[in-house]
Amino acid sequence: MVISARELAELERAGYRFVGKHKHGAVKVCHWTRKSLLQRGSCYKEQFYGRELGMQSHRCLQFTPSLPFCDHRCIYCWRNINVTHSNWVGEVDEPADILDGAISAQRKLLSGFGGNPNVNKKKLKEAQEPKHCAISLAGEPTIYPKINELVEECSRRGMTSFLVTNGMHPEVLEHLAEPTQLYISVVASDLETYEAVCQPTVPDGWGRLNRSLELMPSFTCRRVIRLTLVKGLNLKDAPGYAKFIEKAAPDFIEAKSYMWVGYSRKRLTLENMPLHGEVREFSEALARETGYKLVDESKVSRVILLKG
Ligand code: SF4
Repeated sequence: MVISARELAELERAGYRFVGKHKHGAVKVCHWTRKSLLQRGSCYKEQFYGRELGMQSHRCLQFTPSLPFCDHRCIYCWRNINVTHSNWVGEVDEPADILDGAISAQRKLLSGFGGNPNVNKKKLKEAQEPKHCAISLAGEPTIYPKINELVEECSRRGMTSFLVTNGMHPEVLEHLAEPTQLYISVVASDLETYEAVCQPTVPDGWGRLNRSLELMPSFTCRRVIRLTLVKGLNLKDAPGYAKFIEKAAPDFIEAKSYMWVGYSRKRLTLENMPLHGEVREFSEALARETGYKLVDESKVSRVILLKG
């Protein structure tokens, strides 16, 4: 196990459950899955993509095959970025074991809802059979040596999958099995800001990101560029971001406010969290630069959706 017993215990107290024999995979019930079960709203992805893709927050499985591994140390990350390693070490669990483990762990985590009078019983029954894989819980999924097989296993089970990558592994993207929706995170429009925001632990992070963006048009699945915007750091230079949009030609852009939560509160302040209006203003500037259209928004999640 590459993370210490103390870190593992801390993560379990925070609601993570490690799955598989070698414990590099993990699942955590999403805040929005809980809210949806209690009829208190669903996540912006269900709002933005639910009609087309059928994904629903209460049937979402938020997991990762590679919790201890990431080659970025993003300053805005809500996770503990001190527990991750840049390169894979140790044995590798099979995708089916990770998915089986994640589904059964999530069922146990949700079992407490059975006695809650406010829970939607129909949704709780449906939640026992997750239909959507959010491969974005923590760590960088493209470091997992069997990421192709994992994406294939999701679709073999009839599950939709959103794969979020930091773009550090273009050599993996070149042969990647296509998820339902591929996300590449772009959090800077210039090298200096990139290094300040992402603090890459691998050489040539900027070059790798650019190569990954150049590969994005070759995917036939839905392609999304996710901008996580931190006030006073990377919420600037719409023309610079527009160059990346042109290169990657995504179907959608999610311009999202950084959220002052989790471990990021030790690195940033509340003032670094843009207001929804500021994200909208930036998105309008980006729309002018790229020709993309603002098509949806979620004020509670401070995110704007632009469509190409
Ligand atoms: S898609 Fe993301 S935000 Fe929505 S329920 Fe799943 S993990 Fe949560």
